[in-house]
Parts: sequence; C-alpha cells; structure tokens
Amino acid sequence: MNDDLRELYQDIVLDHGRHPRNFHALEHPTHVARGHNPLCGDRITVYLQVDGDKIADVSFEGRGCAISTAAASLMTEVLKGKTIAAARQLFAQFHARVTGGELSALPEALEEDVERLEPLTGVRAYPVRVKCATLPWRAFEAALNSGLAGDTIKTE
Ligand code: ZN
Repeated sequence: MNDDLRELYQDIVLDHGRHPRNFHALEHPTHVARGHNPLCGDRITVYLQVDGDKIADVSFEGRGCAISTAAASLMTEVLKGKTIAAARQLFAQFHARVTGGELSALPEALEEDVERLEPLTGVRAYPVRVKCATLPWRAFEAALNSGLAGDTIKTE
C-alpha cells in the first residue's frame, strides 16, 4: 500500500469514528443485538429492520474506540438495502480480509462495497484491533440470529 492510500484510509476511519453514520436506535426494529469487546471496552447495539429478505434499515448505538465506531458506521452504510444473503457474504469477505483468512469468490455486485470497507483492513497487523473491527459485524450476525430477543455476544 502506498503512503497516499494509507493516509486516505486513515482519514476515512477517523471521519467515521468521529462522525458515525446511522448512529441512533431504530424506532421499529425487527432484530436487535449487542456486542461487547471486553479487551477494549467497546459496546455496540445493532438494530435491523428486515423486510422480507432485505435489510430495509440498519443503525447502531454504543460507545467504543474509533475503530469499532468506524467499523459500525461503514457497516451500516454498506448493509442498507442489501439482501440478507449478500450481507452474510460481505461479512465473510470482510472477516477474511481483516484476519488474513481465505477469500471466497464474491459476486461482482458486491465489489464496490468491499472496496468501501477496505480502509479498515489495516487492522490486520494488530490482532487486538481485529476484534474492534469485527465486533459490529458479529453483533449484526447475532441480531439476524436472535430477532428481537436481543442477544449479547462477547469477543473472547
Ligand atoms: Zn475497540
């Protein structure tokens, strides 16, 4: 990665960390879950409004470090309007990119979204930070699985 790109990525993460998008509770969510990362102290609640097989709306609340906040903000931006299947594919791809895992094939339609998440992949070099970056996604997955029961997931 060249220095200009690294700087651009840092700016994007800082911007989303300071001015998170979709940072509020949903009035009529269909799915809710909380994520807690004890290592860093990040706490995030993810709200979904699922309509059929689509994510009609998604938002989050909470307190966390710049990385977890930026990751949640960027996640809500790419997930809005996606099908649940596409959202799961994006999570798998993102997870593989930040952990150095094996990349699976991705539909062309999702490439742009993966690019938008790329600024966060710098955490790969910092294992503790990986938990911050993936926490919102794990809360999102927990929300999908638990509906309105509002499960809490914890990073190990
Ligand atoms: Zn954190």
